[in-house]
Amino acid sequence: MTFEQFSLDRRIGAAIHAVGYTTPTPIQQQAIPVVLSGRDVLGLAQTGTGKTAAFLLPILQRLTNGPLRRVRALIVAPTRELAEQIHQMSIDLSKNTQVRSVTVYGGVSKVHQVAALKRGAEIVVACPGRLLDLLGDGSIDLSHVEVLVLDEADRMCDMGFLPDIRRILKVLPQRRQTLFFSATMPDDIRELADHILKDPVTVQIGMIAPVETVSHALYPVPDALKRGLLMALLEQTATGRVLIFTRTKHRARNLARDLAKCGYRASALQGNMSQNQRDQAINGFRDGKYDILVATDIASRGIDVMEITHVINYDMPDTIDAYTHRIGRTGRAHQSGEAFTLASVENKPMVQMIEEVLGAEIERRRLPGFDYGAFVPESQFGRTAPHRQQRADRHPPRRGASEKRHAHTSMRKMV
Ligand code: AMP
Repeated sequence: MTFEQFSLDRRIGAAIHAVGYTTPTPIQQQAIPVVLSGRDVLGLAQTGTGKTAAFLLPILQRLTNGPLRRVRALIVAPTRELAEQIHQMSIDLSKNTQVRSVTVYGGVSKVHQVAALKRGAEIVVACPGRLLDLLGDGSIDLSHVEVLVLDEADRMCDMGFLPDIRRILKVLPQRRQTLFFSATMPDDIRELADHILKDPVTVQIGMIAPVETVSHALYPVPDALKRGLLMALLEQTATGRVLIFTRTKHRARNLARDLAKCGYRASALQGNMSQNQRDQAINGFRDGKYDILVATDIASRGIDVMEITHVINYDMPDTIDAYTHRIGRTGRAHQSGEAFTLASVENKPMVQMIEEVLGAEIERRRLPGFDYGAFVPESQFGRTAPHRQQRADRHPPRRGASEKRHAHTSMRKMV
């Protein structure tokens, strides 16, 4: 299947070519024709599947015809990072057309957002709070919206945005196309979808179970040895970009600091940081200034950095959804990735639940050469296999930028 088969405007086709997409991903294959036909969509897909382009491309196709400089497509996303990511992709894909996109989110001054809206845009990518704020001010007119996208709806619900979403829905035209994306479908999300979608087509890609391109491994370890095990694991593993998850903001900050002390180019990404600091962390990770980002679940939403080779659950996630979202950050769009989870005995019930969803047992691993003291990894989670050994030349202990590229290339070859 090729993008040509969608018969998109040639200016959009040229932009797809310029960003380097050659083949539509499964969700794009399923969703693009449906969205082009004008039907509502219930998309069960997680980040990393190519869902953003799946809704943006047909929206752009619609917007290249018809009036300009009025808001005709509204995309609502839970976080600033995700909104920025969608906006960037919109800029890339619409660059040969007259379609403009603006972002609307809190944590930064309203002035530029209001000015951009005044200049006129067809696409608004918004987080709920600031959008309501601007609606209250009369700075935004949504009466011409033809398409509404709710992205990561389950996440919006987790973050308490459901009442805001309901208020936004009230000011939108009834006659519109609605595209609803969620990685999971808890009851309240199902109810919202039933309420707002009219005769939707469901497109479903790998619901709940994390993308197949990720291999999962579990490292049994008592809490007291976690830090040492992580350091040893990083030493022994040929990694590219690594995203590490902790349970709390405090733990993210401390761990990033400890990693930096050990010579790793690491930064934290957590909710106590200012927007500017968060942007610096994400951009630094994307541009190669940092190899490791230590994040909390909430702060990590919307990180769109291609080629994350490893996701490490330093702390076990609280829910299966959180596991799915974390793991969705690696193995994106046809690339392979590895997901390591450090688990202590208290995490056993969650491990069992994740395995049920995955439909397979996660491989238990013991890190060779690591001093577990009196702890016997096999005692708590069953049989283990040794950590997959990698050739010494593939894991220089302190990596500079050029060595890093080498390590990453090796990783690509191995998987
Ligand atoms: P998303 O699920 O929208 O967050 O997309 C995940 C990543 O896949 C993004 O970095 C996209 O740029 C990339 N991507 C989307 N569609 C394609 C495609 N057809 N071919 C290659 N990469 C893609």
